Amino acid sequence: MSYIEKNIKDLREEINETCRKIGRNPEEIQLIAVTKTVDPERINEAIHAGVEHIGENKVQEIMEKYDVVSNVHWHMIGHLQTNKVKYIIDKVKLIHSLDRISLAEEINKRAKKHNKIMDVLVQVNVANEETKFGLASNEVLEFFEKIQIFEHIRVRGLMTIAPYEENPENVRKYFKKLKEIFETIKIKGFPRVDMKYLSMGMTNDFKVAIEEGSNMIRVGTGIFGRRNYNKL
Ligand SMILES: *Cc1c(COP(=O)(O)O)cnc(C)c1O
Repeated sequence: MSYIEKNIKDLREEINETCRKIGRNPEEIQLIAVTKTVDPERINEAIHAGVEHIGENKVQEIMEKYDVVSNVHWHMIGHLQTNKVKYIIDKVKLIHSLDRISLAEEINKRAKKHNKIMDVLVQVNVANEETKFGLASNEVLEFFEKIQIFEHIRVRGLMTIAPYEENPENVRKYFKKLKEIFETIKIKGFPRVDMKYLSMGMTNDFKVAIEEGSNMIRVGTGIFGRRNYNKL
């Protein structure tokens, strides 16, 4: 068994074990393998090992890999510049990083051109970190009200990136908070909003995230090992 196969197998076992403890069905949890800086050969290895969803945080990397990596769903998980929406609108299944009206406007415009409805998640900066993108918790409701005019966007849920903490227990409160916001939005019943996904949890904190209701975890290091940014 290869290194990547082994990591995926171990990860699935950890997901199963976490779900078993809290009485959740592990099939509810969608695993997104985060492939930033990972070359196509290794990505394909992960796909052979059963990965069905991959996440990239740069438009450039999606463009470079799109034609050589197939049979997989692409997720845009990183900050998205408005002028780059056009390159990925027909490639990705879900954009996790909607965080401003101008971006919603552009996604709507490009989706309309392609005659499609684009699925997105709204990114929330629950911990209010200066270095991170995303709406502040208290801006989320108003944001949902404002984006209702965009007929080619369907919001499927929320995403957050928790601060890095050596002890993942320290970020539990942020996951709890995002889940709360998720439920608040859900009962509002906005048109074109179908709250299904809570994208939270990475290599270091996915267990806590699952315990707090995540159903989409984004794992890079835990599958491919430490990233080598120098190679890019
Ligand atoms: C890199 C990245 C991840 C994965 O991080 P790991 O710690 O390697 O699992 C998840 N989400 C986003 C948005 C990322 O940029």
